[in-house]
Amino acid sequence: MITGAMWFVKVPLLDLQAQFQHIRSDVLSAIEEVCNEQSFVLGRRVEALEEAIAEYVGCRYAVGVASGSDALLLSLMAAGVKPGDEVLTVPFTFFSTAGGISRLHAVPVFVDVRPDTFTMDPEQIERKITPRTKAIIPVHLFGQCADMESIMELADRRGLKVIEDACQSIGASRHGRNAGTFGYSGCFSFFPSKNLGGVGDGGLIVTNDRDLRELLLALRVHGSRSDYHHDHIGLNSRLDALEAAVLRVKLPHLNEWNAKRARNAATYDRLLTEAGLLEHVALPVTGPGNVHVFNQYTLRAQRRDELMAYLKEHEIGHKVYYPVPLHLQQCYQPLGYSKGDLPVSEQLAQEVLSLPVYPELTSAQMETVVGRTGEFYNSR
Ligand SMILES: *Cc1c(COP(=O)(O)O)cnc(C)c1O
Repeated sequence: MITGAMWFVKVPLLDLQAQFQHIRSDVLSAIEEVCNEQSFVLGRRVEALEEAIAEYVGCRYAVGVASGSDALLLSLMAAGVKPGDEVLTVPFTFFSTAGGISRLHAVPVFVDVRPDTFTMDPEQIERKITPRTKAIIPVHLFGQCADMESIMELADRRGLKVIEDACQSIGASRHGRNAGTFGYSGCFSFFPSKNLGGVGDGGLIVTNDRDLRELLLALRVHGSRSDYHHDHIGLNSRLDALEAAVLRVKLPHLNEWNAKRARNAATYDRLLTEAGLLEHVALPVTGPGNVHVFNQYTLRAQRRDELMAYLKEHEIGHKVYYPVPLHLQQCYQPLGYSKGDLPVSEQLAQEVLSLPVYPELTSAQMETVVGRTGEFYNSR
């Protein structure tokens, strides 16, 4: 039984202050060094981070860019995706997975997700392939890998490039292989709420392909390999030295932070089970062979919107990722999808709820979250 003062505790969805306080002096001195040098764009600090992350994930090369969204866009550009081409991806994800496809005037073709892991359902891919299909973007959602063996087998057989959206899954692995290292390229985001978060926007692409690396190095600086000579039409999408310096300080902590997130997830699983709540909520499912890094701890909850209102009233952080599947977004009306076309994603959008799972969360806070959830289901 849960008792006492914890009923008055608020629990934020994410508390970046708690992490910062632990590494404050290292972060501030890294920032000071960059300021002392007054060298802010690309440069040796970005190179050092690229090398460290390539080594961390187990890839030959890494290229720092301005955001995870740009990592996806630049990967698609490098893959030669042209207007009218089709790229398969999932509708149950953050917008930018599909946004990059559309920016190139290519067409996102949505493949539904599995109801257990929320990742791309390999069994639904083949029937969406047409002669115009060029690539597949599976999303390693909430911190675990999609079924990459099946996806890679199919992509290799059909001659399609695979660009992994690993923006939520740095450090996750599947059968011992890291997220981002299976396909043509792997895309990461350093948005502050990600497991490895910077002090602003940032992103990175990993690959084992030397030619791809060279092309990406050019594309991120307007397609130039030497100053003012442009072989390609690229964009300005560079990682800042300040970001790189801070991320370099944080990277050695990432495994510990990821492990704490996973431990918190296991604690929630236990508390929700012990509280007898499994008739009301379905726990997150980790796919076979996956090491899950829990960027989000996401339940499927009955009467989800009422539960949300109750948690809000009691100042328990929570959020719905994602309330509207991409095929039903206003901007994608011209693609011609209707309700019912991708039923699993549509149902998840009605049922999912993410709870606080950040590394510094305490047991008392998790007990409060579960206690409030139990109060809701047991009282009404
Ligand atoms: C965060 C995120 C992105 C985009 O990253 P930004 O750095 O915010 O541009 C792309 N895909 C997914 C699944 C994400 O969670």
